[in-house]
Amino acid sequence: MKIDGEEIPRGSVRQADICIVGSGAAGITMARELTRSKLRVILLEAGTTEWTEASQEIYKSSSVTTNPPQVMDNDFPSWSRLRYFGGSTNHWGGWSRPFEEYDFTKRPWIPLSGWPVSLADLKSYYARAATYLQLLNFDQDEEAARPDRFGITTREFHYSPPTRFGTEYGPELFAAPNIEVILNASAVRFDTQNDQVQSVLVKNAKTEFTIQAKSFVLASGGFENPRLLLNSDHQRGAGLGNSSGMVGRCFMEHPHATVGMFVNVEGEEWLKPFHFGANNEPLRILTTTPEFQARHQVLNYSCQLDIRKTPVADPQEGLNFTQFSYGKPAAVNHLRLYTRSEMLPDPKNRIELSNERDALGLRRFHMHMNFGRTDLRTVVKSTEAVIASLSAQALGRGKIVLERDDLWSTDLGPGCHHMGTTRMSENPREGVVDRDCKVHDLNNLYLAGSSVFATGGFANPTFTLVALALRLTDHLRAGKGGAA
Ligand SMILES: Cc1cc2nc3c(=O)[nH]c(=O)nc-3n(C[C@H](O)[C@H](O)[C@H](O)COP(=O)(O)OP(=O)(O)OC[C@H]3O[C@@H](n4cnc5c(N)ncnc54)[C@H](O)[C@@H]3O)c2cc1C
Repeated sequence: MKIDGEEIPRGSVRQADICIVGSGAAGITMARELTRSKLRVILLEAGTTEWTEASQEIYKSSSVTTNPPQVMDNDFPSWSRLRYFGGSTNHWGGWSRPFEEYDFTKRPWIPLSGWPVSLADLKSYYARAATYLQLLNFDQDEEAARPDRFGITTREFHYSPPTRFGTEYGPELFAAPNIEVILNASAVRFDTQNDQVQSVLVKNAKTEFTIQAKSFVLASGGFENPRLLLNSDHQRGAGLGNSSGMVGRCFMEHPHATVGMFVNVEGEEWLKPFHFGANNEPLRILTTTPEFQARHQVLNYSCQLDIRKTPVADPQEGLNFTQFSYGKPAAVNHLRLYTRSEMLPDPKNRIELSNERDALGLRRFHMHMNFGRTDLRTVVKSTEAVIASLSAQALGRGKIVLERDDLWSTDLGPGCHHMGTTRMSENPREGVVDRDCKVHDLNNLYLAGSSVFATGGFANPTFTLVALALRLTDHLRAGKGGAA
């Protein structure tokens, strides 16, 4: 059923078994799974089925960085997400890949690494998530190529069409008798008693009402999840789930940048799997082995061979790269070595509430975010190994275009991947939710979305956050969390 929140009488109270806040990839996945259950579900969506300026304005916040100014502009929190039914899947790109087994493990050289779940816990959920994302040719047991002596191996990215969750799955939700999708329904505050969330207060421009439920799931995106917890501070001074001050900390992105260039002088055949989007085939990318990462104490890394027919300019020297043909008559291809890599979980990269309020009275946030030295060292060390590996196969010659520690590539930027701000951890000291995505401090409040990621791997986040949402749904459907 679809309901306009503006028509709901002021002060009324609605009841559900499960109340999900936010209808992005995470919230819609959960609600759709629950159409096949006896549970009464309310799915709250702050916006409507269309983009509106008034709704998007609520997402305005500010950000600062000490990286070069082009890396993270002040408006990043506003443009890097969408506030209406379907959330950011209304503009996502569809790049998808599961996390690696070692992404979930404790890596001694990376503080705060290690998830309380493993790849084995998620494996069956990735298979189900692949159908939600409409991934063709997704092979769960895809073999990585045998690593070479430089520690380089390959992996695959898969493409979602990209699925627009609101358009694709909305009609089913609107038709489901046990699901109420309430649009124009912004959650603004959770009320608790002891360690139990009793209700959520919902507002729009015309009215306000309350939802009472046995379990609550906050699925409002990587910035709004912590923002809503921090704004719910009328009963617990630091906000909900924040006894250790971890809500909003360890914000992670994926640094995207040109790190090197390679002049390819031999043959086209070996490059075919690296062609972007060819015949709907997965895209091959180069990455480093866990042993390489341990030896060099770096993070996870990927390198796309971005194939160009014309020379790539060297941003540092303003020179073309043609001299690198090394006696060969001409280059076959000019490859831009483009990385999407892991970022260190650093408590200093965080969002905090500011004093400015939005139209609904909630405090906006301020974000501090820097790609740091480990992030930079990772992409340089790893790209050096990629160049060594390709050169050893006599495929051509390459060079790094990032040579000084303080010099990031001119095209360094984020991927609009908002991760880590309510991270999953064994104990409340190091995070906000437990292995079941339940807030450590509370009995019946769960979080869905990439805010729960403990570390970010190099893979884009949506595949993994949908897999986690499916796992959380099974948990709630089995009666854990008090809903069934
Ligand atoms: C340009 C771009 C390209 C991208 N490309 C890729 C890609 O190729 N691959 C990939 O994996 N990821 C990609 N992403 C990231 C991807 O879009 C997100 O990971 C994903 O959509 C997040 O889903 P979510 O459900 O967690 O959150 P969101 O999509 O943010 O959904 C949250 C929902 O909650 C609603 N909401 C917010 N606050 C409230 C409130 N208080 N009350 C009620 N409802 C609320 C919002 O309106 C929204 O509908 C891209 C992002 C962008 C911006």
